[in-house]
Amino acid sequence: MREVGHFIGGKQVPGKSGRSTEFFQPMTGEVLGRVALASRDELRQAVENAKAAQPAWAATNPQRRARVMMKFLELIAKETDSLADLLAREHGKTVADAKGDIQRGVEVAEFCTGIPHLLKGEFTEGAGPGIDMYSIRQPLGVVAGITPFNFPAMIPLWKLSPAIACGNAFILKPSERDPGVPMRLAELMLEAGLPAGILNVVNGDKEVVDAILDDPDVKAVGFVGSSPIAQYVYSRAAANGKRAQCFGGAKNHMIIMPDADLDQAADALIGAGYGSAGERCMAVSVAVPVGKATADALMDKLIPRVESLKVGPSTDPSADFGPMITKAHMEKVRSYVDLGVQEGAKLVVDGRDFKMQGYENGFYMGGCLFDEVTTDMRIYKEEIFGPVLSVVRAKNYDEALRLPSDHEYGNGVAIYTRDGDAARDFASKVNVGMVGINVPIPVPLAYYTFGGWKASGFGDLNQHGPDAVRFYTKTKTVTSRWPSGIKEGAEFSIPTMK
Ligand code: NAD
Repeated sequence: MREVGHFIGGKQVPGKSGRSTEFFQPMTGEVLGRVALASRDELRQAVENAKAAQPAWAATNPQRRARVMMKFLELIAKETDSLADLLAREHGKTVADAKGDIQRGVEVAEFCTGIPHLLKGEFTEGAGPGIDMYSIRQPLGVVAGITPFNFPAMIPLWKLSPAIACGNAFILKPSERDPGVPMRLAELMLEAGLPAGILNVVNGDKEVVDAILDDPDVKAVGFVGSSPIAQYVYSRAAANGKRAQCFGGAKNHMIIMPDADLDQAADALIGAGYGSAGERCMAVSVAVPVGKATADALMDKLIPRVESLKVGPSTDPSADFGPMITKAHMEKVRSYVDLGVQEGAKLVVDGRDFKMQGYENGFYMGGCLFDEVTTDMRIYKEEIFGPVLSVVRAKNYDEALRLPSDHEYGNGVAIYTRDGDAARDFASKVNVGMVGINVPIPVPLAYYTFGGWKASGFGDLNQHGPDAVRFYTKTKTVTSRWPSGIKEGAEFSIPTMK
């Protein structure tokens, strides 16, 4: 049994609140350990450490800060295998997929090695007579990130890398369901040369999240998780005068046009729908074939593929996907499938009773496929976050375009077609934040930004890319004149450049 505490002031410290919770190895169902749940006092201790260390870090020139990021990347590269193994054991995704989770985070840390360039401000010489104007970006101070269970490497790295590279001190509150990788990342950062106190990891639940949201020294909060909590974090942070960017749940559609290559589309749906057991915010959970002929042909291709999905333990290199994060989550996903049947959807592949031989206590479920799902059903409206794909048949392109556009969530969407005009029209009109054209999971690369619309994102700046630098810095604009001598006396009208 592992005991996971916190990482404060450059070292592991045990929890002192007297509260803790179990976390599991989903592939066997065993308890792996207990993770401490921090109190307000423990959060305060982390904030004090961060606050004390931050000014010197902000004063460290950006090239030196970038070198710490470079060293950090080198250390992650050296232990990717063991990190991926730890991640897969705590989360349940396969080791290969865990490597992707790490790599997608690493790419944002790589982007942050360019921080000297990214932080360059603006300068206008001669903005007025003898006047120069310039803007500079300064760190906010102490900032925090609250992250979900489903990408325990990628999302902490998306948050901590830009925040720290910009000169802030960072408090990470990772998911209490898979805390091992975030704790190890903090150790590696220290080993890379980050001063103690700049990166703190405080484990916990709502109590510590509320403490972060109420702490006057925490200037910004980045959140990723389910939409109700995202909205809650956004409003409480804003009410307390903080910057907040809060990303929520999703219901990502994939439109399949009659001219699409149906084998490619079916393969894309299988990977994007069932990879990581559907526990991805960019998973495709709704397939929208356009026209009856497309729908029938697509179903003929999908059904055998879903039936032959290989579910296995996270350490099995031949598994397509592994178990889900907890027993409670697995039961919730199963109950959504029961609900879909009651609501009248046609369950054409039923993976509810799947049992993994030799791993009977693991949190496994087979792939499920629904046909003839309609927009009034809860299985269409709500995020299921499991290996369940719903097919909603659209009569024509306009109806297909309306479905993701009118849905409450607006994270990602994809269209499969050979028609450039349809693809272009779709990308322009669809009311969703990230669009894939013949790409099922359009997660933008590190130098673009990531963010959903509608109930999938609260706040105005996206994650990573240039927006992250804007989010983690404040702009100061300086208007400067070096006159040969004050001549005119006081000026009472607002100065203009007429
Ligand atoms: P979650 O909302 O349960 O938890 C996210 C974080 O909030 C965790 O750190 C958790 O400890 C904390 N939390 C939980 N309940 C809280 C409460 N009542 N008050 C304050 N804090 C609380 O989400 P999860 O189950 O860990 O992650 C899955 C969800 O995250 C899915 O909805 C998925 O779509 C979403 N997600 C979104 C993105 C995105 O970029 N939009 C990325 C990954 C995951």
